[in-house]
Amino acid sequence: MGRQYDLIAIGAGSGGLSVAERAASYGAKVAVIESGQLGGTCVNVGCVPKKIMWFAANTAHTLANAAGFGFDAEVRRHDWPTLKRRRDAYIADINGWYGGYLERAGIELIRGRARFVDARTVEVDGERLGARHIVIASGGTPTIPDIPGAALGIDSDGFFELEALPPRVAIVGAGYIAVELAGVLAALGSQVSLLLRKDEPLREFDALIREQLVKALRADGVDILTRTQLSAIERLADGSLQLTRDGAAPLTVDCLIWAIGRTPQTAALGLDSAGLKPRADGTLSTDSFQNTEVPGIYAIGDVTGRAPLTPVAIAAGRRLADRLYGGMPQRHLDYSNIPTVVFSHPPIGTVGLTEDQACEQYGAEVRVYTTHFTPMGQSFSAHPRQTAMKLVCAGDDEKIVGVHAIGDGVDEMLQGFAVAVRMGARKRDFDDTVAIHPTSAEELVTLR
Ligand code: FAD
Ligand code: NDP
Repeated sequence: MGRQYDLIAIGAGSGGLSVAERAASYGAKVAVIESGQLGGTCVNVGCVPKKIMWFAANTAHTLANAAGFGFDAEVRRHDWPTLKRRRDAYIADINGWYGGYLERAGIELIRGRARFVDARTVEVDGERLGARHIVIASGGTPTIPDIPGAALGIDSDGFFELEALPPRVAIVGAGYIAVELAGVLAALGSQVSLLLRKDEPLREFDALIREQLVKALRADGVDILTRTQLSAIERLADGSLQLTRDGAAPLTVDCLIWAIGRTPQTAALGLDSAGLKPRADGTLSTDSFQNTEVPGIYAIGDVTGRAPLTPVAIAAGRRLADRLYGGMPQRHLDYSNIPTVVFSHPPIGTVGLTEDQACEQYGAEVRVYTTHFTPMGQSFSAHPRQTAMKLVCAGDDEKIVGVHAIGDGVDEMLQGFAVAVRMGARKRDFDDTVAIHPTSAEELVTLR
């Protein structure tokens, strides 16, 4: 029969740790099973190391603008190994902290790979563990395409292992990771080509964001190659990579990065034994309470394919534990109006509906307010980065259904506006809010 728990979480990433911690706080007997590093993707190969690289890139931009403010500053070089060493040490500290945190919370950590034996039992290294509630929070891994030589490229995990800045890089993909890595590498000195299979990056985002982002990437020297697909990759004698493109001359680079999405880690879970069937793309279907089709088995985070972001996995996990053990039977995560930031240069912040989505949903009742300006902090730069913002309003009372911004500081600005949108703010609420001057954020409450 094996050891018995109230709740088992498969995966000690953002979702698994959160559901475990909240369930244990209610007195449940909880185990977390983890085959890799504590903290999962976000801590080890995601948000955290990425944000450190973003700060480094931002510093490069600030240094480039220093002369405008009268500094006679000369930057001789950037030392990538120093940055990597400090970043790795920072993450090792977080991993260590998580170990202590699980112990303090009374959660049992089981190291190894979990596989279902039946709907109430999993097996780890031959040992059987049972629980009334099992939460699948196994996340995903980067997708690599099936083309000759694809393994010569790296993915976002490999990016964090790079020991030196690659001089020439090709990034394939059009989502968050492609855009963020292109910005970091370009700022730190790589010659970057961004290979899109369609016409624009971030196609799900509002048109204003996409237009401004393309301008910003080009201004930073990123070569955007649209309608480009690779058919083969070969290593040349000098160690560089030759990328064969459909219908165009080959491209030679030192490093190729695949950033074409992520594949859920469900194939090795033995889902069949539990009576679970994943969708064709490997994600698990869940209702609004994170229930899978098998009673007592839940899924949270990236593995569900819904808004694959750390705070979403955390919020879903905590709400699930509140429902199971906290006496809150209706507690669940509302997946609408989830704010998100793309850490590009400048960053992008967005919450709610794009203009196109709003028009589809509300028809003629949509009104948008837009502004483009040079923020004061960029005014003395040789190449000032623009800020652009859009409010999407719907109905007679102009309820704000979307806020979209790209520009310095919008990453920190958005959280508060997301609260307002969630509370159902109207345009007149924004108008009635006294501005903070001089800031970029004030533009959002003074739009006409
Ligand atoms: P994960 O964090 O992936 O955790 C899953 C865990 O399960 C892993 O540790 C894995 O080893 C373990 N596991 C899998 N299978 C098994 C098994 N059978 N047995 C035991 N353990 C198993 N999100 C943001 O909100 N902001 C950002 O800035 C951001 N930046 C990102 C940058 C990059 C480069 C990447 C790749 C992602 C980024 N994300 C960001 C997304 C974020 O990292 C994920 O949404 C989040 O980590 C998902 O959490 P999770 O718990 O679902 O899965
Ligand atoms: P995304 O799903 O964001 O983007 C991948 C994109 O690559 C697709 O949308 C598609 O765009 C393009 N693509 C897909 N297949 C191919 C292919 N075969 N060849 C060329 N292009 C292809 O995935 P990411 O890997 O960038 O990121 C995964 C998730 O992680 C994100 O969705 C996000 O939720 C999360 N994340 C969040 C971050 C943040 O919060 N700042 C940062 C990083 C990741 P198209 O159809 O236009 O070609």
